[in-house]
Amino acid sequence: MITDSYRHKGLRRQLALHLKTKGIDNADVLKAIETVPRHLFLDNAFIERAYEDIAFPIGAGQTISRPHTVAFQTQLLKLKRGEKVLEIGTGCGYQTSVLLEMGVKVYTIERQLELYNKTIKFLPSIGYSAKFIYGDGYKGMPAFAPFDKIIITAGAPVIPNDLLNQLKVGGLMVIPVGDKVQTMTLLEKKSEKHFEKTEFGEFKFVPLLERKEWGD
Ligand code: SAH
Repeated sequence: MITDSYRHKGLRRQLALHLKTKGIDNADVLKAIETVPRHLFLDNAFIERAYEDIAFPIGAGQTISRPHTVAFQTQLLKLKRGEKVLEIGTGCGYQTSVLLEMGVKVYTIERQLELYNKTIKFLPSIGYSAKFIYGDGYKGMPAFAPFDKIIITAGAPVIPNDLLNQLKVGGLMVIPVGDKVQTMTLLEKKSEKHFEKTEFGEFKFVPLLERKEWGD
C-alpha cells in the first residue's frame, strides 16, 4: 500500500508555493493543498507526477482537475468553517477533500456509478467523510437544501436553475460555464430572484452531462 511520506509532504509544500505565485493567496486554501495527499487519489502510473500542476485521468473518461483549478474554485467560495457546501462532480474526491480541510460540511453528487462506488469507499479510508450521492447534479439535492455554497466541477453548458434555487440568499456558487472552454463564473445570490455575476477567465473541464445521457 502506498502511504504518505516526507518526500510527498515536501512536494506538496512546493506545489502550494507554486500556486501562491499563480495568485492563490488564501492561506487556508494553500494549507489544504499542502495537507491533502493527492498522490493517493491517482493511478500508480501517475503517482510520480501527482504534485505537478496538471490534470490526470481517473477512470470513466473523467479527470482530476489541476491543483490550480481546485485552489481557484475553492478560494472563490470564501468558505467559513461549518458551512454547508454542495459539490457537483465528486470524481476521485480530491476537491471534496480540499473542501473538507476548510472545515465545511460537504454533500457531493456523482453520476458515474464506477466513480461513486470507488470514492465512497476511498475517502473515508483516508479520514475524510462527506455525504455521497449517486445521481444527477443538475437536480442538486433538494432534500438537504439550502446550501451556503455550491461548487460545480464540470463544464456546464448552462447554469442549472435547480442549483440556483438551492442556494441560500447571501450564498455563492462557482461554476465553469461553456462548451469547449469554460468561463469561471461566480454567482452571488442577492435575493430570491437576483444574482450578481462575476467572471474569472477561461478554464477547461470535462462536460457536465445531462440526465438523458445516463448509461453513456
Ligand atoms: N472534482 C473532481 C473532478 C471531477 S471531473 C475531482 O477532484 O476528482 C467532473 C466530474 O463530474 C466527473 O467525475 C463526472 O463524472 C461528474 N459529472 C458529470 N456530469 C455530472 C452530473 N450531471 N451530475 C453529477 N456529476 C457529474
